[in-house]
Amino acid sequence: MKQFRVYITEPIPMYEKMVKLLRSSNVEVEVSKVFHEYVPEDKLLEFDGVIVADSKIPIEPIKKTERLKIIQKFGVGVDNIPVELCKSRSIYVCNIPGINSLDVAEFTLAVILSILHRIRERDRMARKAKWSDRPRVLSERLTGKVIGIIGFGRIGRQVAMLLKPFRVRIVVYDPYVSDEVVKEAGVERVGELDQLLKASDIVTLHIPLTGETRHMIGWRELNIMKRNAILINTSRGAVVDEEALYKAVKSGRLKSAHIDVWSVEPVPKSNPMLKVGRVQLSLHQASWSVNFFMEAAEFCVENILKTFRGLKPLNVVWEPMR
Ligand code: NAD
Repeated sequence: MKQFRVYITEPIPMYEKMVKLLRSSNVEVEVSKVFHEYVPEDKLLEFDGVIVADSKIPIEPIKKTERLKIIQKFGVGVDNIPVELCKSRSIYVCNIPGINSLDVAEFTLAVILSILHRIRERDRMARKAKWSDRPRVLSERLTGKVIGIIGFGRIGRQVAMLLKPFRVRIVVYDPYVSDEVVKEAGVERVGELDQLLKASDIVTLHIPLTGETRHMIGWRELNIMKRNAILINTSRGAVVDEEALYKAVKSGRLKSAHIDVWSVEPVPKSNPMLKVGRVQLSLHQASWSVNFFMEAAEFCVENILKTFRGLKPLNVVWEPMR
C-alpha cells in the first residue's frame, strides 16, 4: 500500500491503540496532544485520513484539499463536521453509531439513580460523619415514575430497555420512528413534545443536534415540565437553551438536572452552571468507557484502511458522488 498519512485531531483516550494498528499497516500517524477547537488547516491539506472526536472541522481547507479521503468521527454526532461540503468534495464522512449506545444508556440510568438516591449528598455527609443529618437526606424510588425519552433511536431504545425492570411508565417523543419500533419496545408514544413534558417526572434527551432540535428545550418547555421534574441531557448542549435551564434550576423550578454536554465545549470555567449545587455535571463523558474506546479504535482504523484500499467504508453519513 502507498504510504498514507492519518491525523488524529485530539488526544482521544487510548489513542495509542489506533497508532499501533495504523503503523502496523504501514500508515504514518500524527496525533495532536492538545485539544484544538478547530482542527489546524494544514492538517486537513496534508493528510489522507482524519480521525476526529470533538474538534471542529473548518470549512476553508475542505474546499481546497486534494488529498483528504475520509473524515472518521470517533463518535456519533457529526455536527462538528461540514458534512454537505465534504459530500460535494467526495470526502467520506463516517461515524460509529451503535458502539457507544449502551455506554450512554447505562450512564443515563446511573445519573437518574444517583439524583433520586442523592448519592453525592450522602457521600459528602458521610465524609463529615454527620450522622444526625441523616433525616434531611431522604431518597425517592425510581419505580413508579414517568420517564420521558426524547429521541427514540439507538440510545433512547437502550435506555428504555434498561429501565424496564424498574416498573416505570415510559413515554417517548420521536416523530421519525415507526409505530412498530415503539410497539416492540413496549413504550407509549406521544405525538407532541408538550405532552411528554407535562407527563414526565424525568425527561432524558437522545436526539441529534439539527436545525430542528437546536434549543428544542427552552424557557417555555422548561415551564411546561412538572414542578420538581428532572432533566437529563447527554445529547448535545445546544439542544437545550442553557441560560433558560440555569434559571429553571437556580430558581428551584426544576428539582435537578444532569448536564453532560454543553453549549460551548470545552466548557469555560466562567459558566455559571458550574456553581449550581442542585445540578449534577459531567464533561461530555457519557460514553467514555474502556470498552467503548477499545471497540471504537478498532472500528475507526479498519474503516480508514478500507478507504485507503479503495473500498467503501462503513457508516458513511452520505454516499459519495463519484
Ligand atoms: P440515533 O440517530 O440512533 O437516534 C436519534 C433519534 O433522534 C432518531 O430516532 C431520530 O428519529 C430522533 N430525532 C431526530 N430529530 C428529532 C426531533 N426533532 N424530535 C424527536 N426526535 C428526533 O442516534 P443515537 O445513537 O441514539 O444518538 C443520539 C445522540 O446522542 C447523538 O446524535 C449524539 O449527539 C448524542 N451522543 C452523545 C454522547 C455523549 O457522550 N454524551 C455519545 C453518543 C451520542
